[in-house]
Amino acid sequence: MTYLIILLDDTSVSYCHYDVKRQERKLISLDDLKAGVLFAMKENLNIQFVYPNYVLPEEYKDVIESIDHTKIGPISCGEDLDLIVVDSFDFVPYNEKTYLWRGNLDELISEQEKIANILPKVSRLNVVLTDILKWKEKEFVSYKGFLDYMALQIAEYYHMGNSVQLNILTDRLTIDKMNNCSAGDKSITLAPDGNFYICPAFYPDKNVGSLKNGLVIPNKHLYRLDHAPICRKCDAYQCRRCIWMNLRSTLDCNTPSHEQCVVSHLERKATCLLLRLAGEKGVTIENAYGIEEIDYLDPFNILNKWN
Ligand code: SF4
Ligand code: SF4
Repeated sequence: MTYLIILLDDTSVSYCHYDVKRQERKLISLDDLKAGVLFAMKENLNIQFVYPNYVLPEEYKDVIESIDHTKIGPISCGEDLDLIVVDSFDFVPYNEKTYLWRGNLDELISEQEKIANILPKVSRLNVVLTDILKWKEKEFVSYKGFLDYMALQIAEYYHMGNSVQLNILTDRLTIDKMNNCSAGDKSITLAPDGNFYICPAFYPDKNVGSLKNGLVIPNKHLYRLDHAPICRKCDAYQCRRCIWMNLRSTLDCNTPSHEQCVVSHLERKATCLLLRLAGEKGVTIENAYGIEEIDYLDPFNILNKWN
């Protein structure tokens, strides 16, 4: 385990595929916050605090500042955030900051010009899509169109000497092994009720232990990449490999959904396109790996080959 994610409040912002529907504030107790920090210290975990959209009491800030950490929160929560969550592109960007936008495919497509314009004005932009499991062929085609458009824009930025970062297109350039979310394996979440969860998406339905009784993850090995027979052979290394989506779509935490695989392979293909377009402009991307062209979008279609 490497990370402890602490949800500071029931209304802490979502920074991933799940929605937060809770509207009533419930702050983690100060004792549980202190116990969470102590747990992280004993287990040598990096803490990521996830903020709600209001200012925390001073005594909470003191506990938070007592340990090294990362802050994730909504843009208007009043903190100096490491990862700023936004739901539109109408914010004033700071070029040393990392932003995360969450939304559905229609919103993404309608904002594509704003996204392209904002990239050189921020340190990095992460895009997280919230409706992937509803996508069919039409949506895959639209997403491919978006990715191809962004590949063109990013290649042009590279040509101008600006190494912009957009997770879904540029991450795959510089990684040569799986770089997934790894919830339940490398990270665990502490929620305001004092219980642990595989990730924030599982709160409050399914806990895996508590501060009081310890962390108890049943069948822990199932969250590991080496026990995911399809993913461990895949090379869409930027894929989140979302355990939560897997459970919702295949009822199995290490069996991926068709939708997630196609989305990740469309991104992988668009990264190949970006490499090609940059090459045509005479741009060498620092630390970039070559990416083999492949002719499938879902690894399920080539299982025979892998066998
Ligand atoms: S694309 Fe599919 S097989 Fe590959 S890592 Fe993602 S979920 Fe696993
Ligand atoms: S399992 Fe990981 S990728 Fe999926 S919702 Fe949870 S944190 Fe996000």
